[in-house]
Amino acid sequence: MYRERLPRGGGRGWRRAPGAVLLGLALMLWSLASRLVAQEVSGRQADAGVRSVREAPPTEQPVLREIVGAVSAERIEADIRRLVGFGTRHTLSDTLSETRGIGAARRWIKARFEGISAACGGCLEVFYQVSLVSGQRRIPDTTAVVSVIAIQRGTTDPDRYVVMSGDIDSRVSDPLDATSESPGANDNASGMAGAIEAARVLTRYRFNASIVYAGLAGEEQGLFGGQRMAAVAKEEKWRIEAVFNNDMIGNIDGQNGVSDNTVARVFSEGIRADETEQMSRLRRFTGGEVDSPSRNLARYVDRMADRYIPNLDIMMVYRLDRFGRGGHHRPFNDVGFPAVRIMEANEDYRRQHQDIRVEKGVEYGDVLEEVEFDFAAKLTALNAVTLASLAWAPPPPSEVQIEGAVRPSTTLRWAPPDAGQAPQLAGYKVYWRLTTSPQWEWSEFVGDVTESTLENIVIDNYIFGVASVSEDGFESPVVFPGPIGAFSPADWIVPEG
Ligand SMILES: [Zn+2]
Repeated sequence: MYRERLPRGGGRGWRRAPGAVLLGLALMLWSLASRLVAQEVSGRQADAGVRSVREAPPTEQPVLREIVGAVSAERIEADIRRLVGFGTRHTLSDTLSETRGIGAARRWIKARFEGISAACGGCLEVFYQVSLVSGQRRIPDTTAVVSVIAIQRGTTDPDRYVVMSGDIDSRVSDPLDATSESPGANDNASGMAGAIEAARVLTRYRFNASIVYAGLAGEEQGLFGGQRMAAVAKEEKWRIEAVFNNDMIGNIDGQNGVSDNTVARVFSEGIRADETEQMSRLRRFTGGEVDSPSRNLARYVDRMADRYIPNLDIMMVYRLDRFGRGGHHRPFNDVGFPAVRIMEANEDYRRQHQDIRVEKGVEYGDVLEEVEFDFAAKLTALNAVTLASLAWAPPPPSEVQIEGAVRPSTTLRWAPPDAGQAPQLAGYKVYWRLTTSPQWEWSEFVGDVTESTLENIVIDNYIFGVASVSEDGFESPVVFPGPIGAFSPADWIVPEG
């Protein structure tokens, strides 16, 4: 059994949820008891199970199309050119020069965010996040790894965060080579420029939750900037709902000969990295191998692409990252935050981490000429609408529970957000799909209730989840029941004593 708590804004108390081993009669008896507890603490019990007569919110948000239309490939190109212009952005490169090296690059990125902030009346909090790293294989001597963070503070739920990240640093063949030309045009000036452009576009609006635009440092040397940001966020109890790690969003010509500007990939872990042994035992009986919060975030991105980005399909890849390789979403997953990697579908490995050279007629190097700015803009637009939709939506439901064994219906129950965090809440949507389907297939808006029963839908045959919906129709990601799918870190879900 488990109980789940939010790190802030308590007052709703604890609630219980069914465990795996309590099946059949035991489960039914227990759930009755739990319902009584829930009624005591919820204050919404009068609504439980009663369908709201409220009309379902709209499913189309014209403002998201406006956001897509505002993203500029020209500005992204200009910023990638500028980043490439620093010669190298290697983590161990010069920090004093105004024109070359990682120091000049991060100062320029910070100034960029400050300029965007000035244009919106100071709507961004811009700061460096510094960690001192030493004694590592790729950072032998003490080095300041300096990320640049810009926060657009949310109006009603400022402690909830959705994050878009790119990376500041670059590398060539020798991971310790801090002086050679290392343009890192695609890896990862493209993601960095995308985050800056998303900030330009989204700072024209005000959101309920906070949006973070992050230039993470030290990626190539061992994911150090992301580790630092994840640790600080965990320490400060940020409710991170989503991290979109954009790492290489500008290549469309694959080394395998495929050239395609209509597909992007979203990588996500299926089983959360912070799963406990207890959660693993529960999963054996309830499923959830493909329903971590990160995976349901990937499904959200896929749906946003289908609805709002013309000529873009998402290939959801059911794994943490490319085979055996790493990226800056991982440190967030490590501490229990939902995070995915967004990137091009077709890679050219001759253009990654390579000294610029020609060998037997083959060109190597991550040069500007190989970046497709329109494609980077398309993926930036995807990030922007997804960030906007999440930040306007209510927080995802918590304490989601499910029951329905040995009866022809399925009941879901969940906790509402604190009223202050979601003044715009219209209600909830229950989703379900076949166990073999990659994407949610059916849904029903059930109104502002905390319990819903799907009659004649047999629990054994589907996977279920719940999303929150705002009056304007902005939806949270779908939450799979229990701690397996919860959008908070596992150690914020305390096992019962
Ligand atoms: Zn790289």
